Amino acid sequence: MGENFQIQLIEEKNLKTTNTYILNRFVKPSQILDLVSQYGTPLYLIDENTLHLKANELLNAYEKYKGPKRIAYSVKANFTPSILRSFMKDGITFDLTSLGELYFLKKCNIEPENAIYTSITEEEEEYVQILRNGITRVVVSSFNGVTNLVKAAIKTNVKPQTLIRINPEVSVKAEIRASYKNGKFGVPFNGGTIDSAFKIVKYIVNNEFLNFDGFHFHLGSQITNFSCYSNTFSKLDGFISKIKKEIPSFNINTIDIGGGTPVFYNQDVPTPKQMAENYVNKLNHLADDHGSFELIIESGRFLVAESSILLSRIVNTKEYNGHKIVIVDAGYHVLLDSALMKQEYPQEVIDIDNSDINSVKSTLSSKNIHLAGRLCDTYDVFPQSRISNLNNVSIGNYISFYNVGAYSVVFNMPFHCQTKPPIVMKTTSGDLKLIRKGTTFENLFEEEGGYIL
Ligand SMILES: *Cc1c(COP(=O)(O)O)cnc(C)c1O
Repeated sequence: MGENFQIQLIEEKNLKTTNTYILNRFVKPSQILDLVSQYGTPLYLIDENTLHLKANELLNAYEKYKGPKRIAYSVKANFTPSILRSFMKDGITFDLTSLGELYFLKKCNIEPENAIYTSITEEEEEYVQILRNGITRVVVSSFNGVTNLVKAAIKTNVKPQTLIRINPEVSVKAEIRASYKNGKFGVPFNGGTIDSAFKIVKYIVNNEFLNFDGFHFHLGSQITNFSCYSNTFSKLDGFISKIKKEIPSFNINTIDIGGGTPVFYNQDVPTPKQMAENYVNKLNHLADDHGSFELIIESGRFLVAESSILLSRIVNTKEYNGHKIVIVDAGYHVLLDSALMKQEYPQEVIDIDNSDINSVKSTLSSKNIHLAGRLCDTYDVFPQSRISNLNNVSIGNYISFYNVGAYSVVFNMPFHCQTKPPIVMKTTSGDLKLIRKGTTFENLFEEEGGYIL
């Protein structure tokens, strides 16, 4: 590597873009070459500045909501400690779902009071742990869960602010739906049993060990049709009116509208501002009718996706019947959603040596170029985004996968004895800093019990 190689700057105009979407190329090709020679590939890169920009953009999108508001980062999307520390500087809240995530938060010196905890398991011992560790805002999702929270509140002598996760049973058109009839998450407004929001509200407001705080819902991820939010607010409005008939003093402090803000992969998506415009009036109506409440907007994907690139090297190619198979040294062990969700991450070739005989321009159309990973598994292929640029897919060149910050690092897995790649962050001061070391075969052997004889 070094002087022998030339970088061909990839100009914006070279992208066969049909929209205004511009990829976040926060490192120059020359820096990329330095980085891959130092750390190898695959390699994740994160741009800290983008994290701050996204946190601001999301909050500003809701400026027309007249009550107080805050952003909560869904830690499950990417728990890299440097990312958590960056978001801490933005003063945002953290949305947690496990004791492991709480451990990470504490290790990063993030105040647990600045977190909201939504458990799926809702075990008593889990609630004891979170209350002991200073979390005060808890979302319950079942009657058994709320009784466990009461037991934990008694044991710890902490009175948690309690939200109820509702399943509004509205239809959601999105890549990932988290709300559907008879779904795993939350409770319906009225399901005919004790596992109903109405019954749980009454239980909480009459319980001396809990404070009722409000409602939470999470409709899904990568949502591009926003009627599900409007429909949920209408249902919630009616529901709150109904409660107030029975409990006149009833009031809500918080409404947490969950995640779902979409990002660009293959299709243009509305901005958070355009998204919020669809229903911010409904939120203001809710506040007018039932009293001002704090709005919490959760997000994993939108806050981190565009901050990150995965770099991979083209290690093999073959061509037959007018098709070219391009093998890279990444795989779904570093980008699971390309297999699981058929996620079309935008890809771009970093042409390191355009003088080489290998880089003769391919005449193949992009649909006859098949990007595949290193794993011995049929699903280990990478669908292309419509703005992917796969000219010069030849051995030795690199490929950048864009917008990979959400739901990728967290799924790193050792399938085929693969190690975890290093992560480099471009800090706000412009430094390129190693924030996670790659793991080694030796680490993996030990982790898998290799020394237990
Ligand atoms: C996953 C999840 C989110 C984040 O969803 P995104 O689509 O990544 O914004 C928010 N809230 C809850 C409860 C979740 O489970």
